[in-house]
Amino acid sequence: MSKTCQVAVIGAGPAGLAAGLYAARSGLSTIIIEMAFPGGQIANAPRVDNYPGFVEGISGIELGQYMHSQAEQAGAETLTAEVSSLVPATQGSGGHHVVRTSEEDVIAEAVIVATGARYRMLGVPGEAELTGRGVSYCATCDGPFYREKKVAVIGGGDTAITDALELTTFASQVTVIHRRDELRASRALQEKAGDNPKVAFLWNAVVEEVLGQPGVSSVRLKDTKSGRISEFPVDGVFVAVGSVPSTGFLNGVIALDEGGCIIINEQMETDIAGVFAAGDVRHNSARQVITAAGDGATAALSARRYISSL
Ligand code: NAP
Repeated sequence: MSKTCQVAVIGAGPAGLAAGLYAARSGLSTIIIEMAFPGGQIANAPRVDNYPGFVEGISGIELGQYMHSQAEQAGAETLTAEVSSLVPATQGSGGHHVVRTSEEDVIAEAVIVATGARYRMLGVPGEAELTGRGVSYCATCDGPFYREKKVAVIGGGDTAITDALELTTFASQVTVIHRRDELRASRALQEKAGDNPKVAFLWNAVVEEVLGQPGVSSVRLKDTKSGRISEFPVDGVFVAVGSVPSTGFLNGVIALDEGGCIIINEQMETDIAGVFAAGDVRHNSARQVITAAGDGATAALSARRYISSL
């Protein structure tokens, strides 16, 4: 089975939804393909307070829902399916690109890849085994399970500090374990964390193993300066060490950088004519909701130009 459209957008985070909105508003038949809930990573954000226009901030889920409704009202169709591969026009159907999905093929004149990124794992023993039993990648989802418990957050970026602050609502103590002695997170977040008596920091420490049976009871740490090994007791471990782009399904079809992100130019064009990329999946993304949405709009305008040149 297959569906045909002018623009296929892969991913329904802010980049994909903005691309879908702009493409549909341009009068192009548009299908947004998403395997999960619309909103992408922001669906995990309890509050987005840096998206212009929402003076009091807005929950990530709500913002994602608004973006999705707006794209659908403009005429974009949503297909819930997992994309398995992209066949470029040169090898595709009648000069069109083919997006192969778990449901049906989507045949399109232009494709916008907006698949974002997924959580990076630490890759240490015990992490995978104890995921869901004390190891988590989502403070918003799992924080309420840690009322009056001691938790650790691994990482030193905006996500780690946002998670740590959110976890103070539930946990009795939140220890941020960071591999350096300086945070990458914004100054505003650092100040909030510094002012919160429930947040403590363990500097120059890397997790070597997550321990516990049947649930997490501690982490084994290595001091990066002295090499000293220690055990730190915790009930939960929240891993917030960044993300990896979701480009596995591309299988070498589009040029990627060394980190696996799609290489684009200022018009969001990839090295394949008629295939564009937007948001966290692209090289050098600022990884903000507003920049992802901007990328999506740029990609859709470029797709429109490309289609009218066919
Ligand atoms: P990030 O900025 O890449 O930070 C990842 C953190 O994890 C860094 O502190 C890094 O350490 C550490 N790390 C990476 N690999 C590690 C490993 N194997 N073991 C231990 N630590 C490791 O990722 P992010 O915090 O998820 O943020 C991603 C983007 O989203 C950023 O652009 C951020 O500004 C944005 N964001 C914004 C907000 C907001 O409120 N505006 C909230 C969340 C995220 P080093 O510092 O040593 O490299």
